[in-house]
Amino acid sequence: MAVKGIKTKDKHIHGLAKLVGGQRAILYHKEDLVAYDCDGFTIHKHLPRAVVFPKNTEEVAKCVKYCATHNLPFLARGAGTGLSGGAVPLHNEVIISLVRMKNLISVDLENRRAVVEPGFVNLKLTNSIADRGYYYAPDPSSQYCCTIGGNVAENAGGAHCLKYGVTTNHILGLEVVLPDGEIIELGQNGIPDAPGYDLLGLMTGSEGTLGIVTKITVRILKNPEAKKTVLAYFDNVTDGSQAVSDIISAGIVPAALEMMDKTAIEGVEAAAFPVGHPKDIAAVLLIEVDGIAVGIDEQITQILDVCTARNVREVRAAKNEEERARWWANRKTGFGAMGAISPDYLVQDGVIPRSRLPEVLERIEQISEETGLRIANIFHAGDGNLHPLVLFDARIPGQTEKAIEAGSACLQACADVGGTITGEHGVGIEKREEMRFVFKDEEIIAQTNIREVFNPGNLLNAGKLFPTPGRCGEVKKEMKEALLAQ
Ligand SMILES: Cc1cc2nc3c(=O)[nH]c(=O)nc-3n(C[C@H](O)[C@H](O)[C@H](O)COP(=O)(O)OP(=O)(O)OC[C@H]3O[C@@H](n4cnc5c(N)ncnc54)[C@H](O)[C@@H]3O)c2cc1C
Repeated sequence: MAVKGIKTKDKHIHGLAKLVGGQRAILYHKEDLVAYDCDGFTIHKHLPRAVVFPKNTEEVAKCVKYCATHNLPFLARGAGTGLSGGAVPLHNEVIISLVRMKNLISVDLENRRAVVEPGFVNLKLTNSIADRGYYYAPDPSSQYCCTIGGNVAENAGGAHCLKYGVTTNHILGLEVVLPDGEIIELGQNGIPDAPGYDLLGLMTGSEGTLGIVTKITVRILKNPEAKKTVLAYFDNVTDGSQAVSDIISAGIVPAALEMMDKTAIEGVEAAAFPVGHPKDIAAVLLIEVDGIAVGIDEQITQILDVCTARNVREVRAAKNEEERARWWANRKTGFGAMGAISPDYLVQDGVIPRSRLPEVLERIEQISEETGLRIANIFHAGDGNLHPLVLFDARIPGQTEKAIEAGSACLQACADVGGTITGEHGVGIEKREEMRFVFKDEEIIAQTNIREVFNPGNLLNAGKLFPTPGRCGEVKKEMKEALLAQ
């Protein structure tokens, strides 16, 4: 039966609209769908068949059942800030957007947990409980707009994950709609060492390929009693990166230990939140320690001793909360700031043992020289989680291919020293082929077998996370062609 106000002959649009309350909760016109043709990874663009906006778990389950019954590919979408193409509708999927499910369901301070809907924006959780002295630790730089559902799917990290752990360490329970539309609960409310397989751990970081998360129980933490934040400037990158390694091996675990190199500094100083970093400096570390007030100064002194031994040029301590917030805004808007110095950039996301930082940064510098493209580095140095940002101009013939090659070479450099190809942004479409840098065929097959169990028809978010068997190289070619066609 046709749904009032829906102007298409596509019977599935009518079928889906009925499940979510009518024409106001579905998009299907091309001009509306364009906004959903990619996420933060803009190289691959594909239009979805439709975007539906369910308002609760039951509506999500009905949409999923409908897609499963009618053999329609589908995927979940949060805020669309993903950087690896996880929410791109490669197969004309029906997108199930979770943005209407954006409530904070409950806060239980006594047991230090909160329950949220998947479309709840990350930063809103901390803002909602800050006046009671609590916060939610995982703090991706996109936290002002990304959703906690998307964070669970990507196992998001952030600057303060060095000390407090990434998303998976803060998830106590999930409600999930499986690809056949069944609703299950995972995690037994955070009981440690619960019996059975750790499906909560499996679901977290599965990049929306095993189910759609519809409710999340998270751990919340008490605000630390004291915080101190410093900037340490170095005349060469090797000294800066050695200092990172030395700080951790001295047994100090700062809350955050971030690094930016000269090109990155040029970008952030040209963008919205300049803080007056010296123009001629090779690297800056943004270091924050927190905890009980007693001992904070001692930790800072120890850190500065390490930096002095590594020839630090200058150290600045944040004078007040306002200055600290500005330094963090300068760092957290760093990716976007590259737009101030380059028309295009590709964000990469490798991880290495932090003791190998100096040599990998040197290799990245070499890759930059070989390709003739500038590469800025802004990263979670304490975790060894690198973000080489390859700067290029898609209007110049050949630069796009070079940028993709440079990005892939950076990931190869990480894999070569025993690291891996993603620390927090996920594999998505972008790094499917690079999975081969770190996994043997048998290991990839073991993982795709798990996907088969949950998602046997592969209707949910197909074509993500794993390389296509026998297509090594072809996917890269497609990416180049797609980018060149833009
Ligand atoms: C400027 C900028 C800075 C960033 N900084 C960081 C950072 O510091 N750390 C970091 O980890 N990431 C960072 N990111 C990447 C991105 O913000 C994270 O991956 C984030 O977790 C994505 O959330 P989202 O709501 O936008 O998800 P989307 O982009 O909408 O989706 C991402 C993936 O999750 C799946 N998904 C979404 N919601 C659900 C759900 N409810 N159930 C199941 N699957 C779902 C989608 O299908 C897709 O595969 C940054 C991105 C930008 C643009």
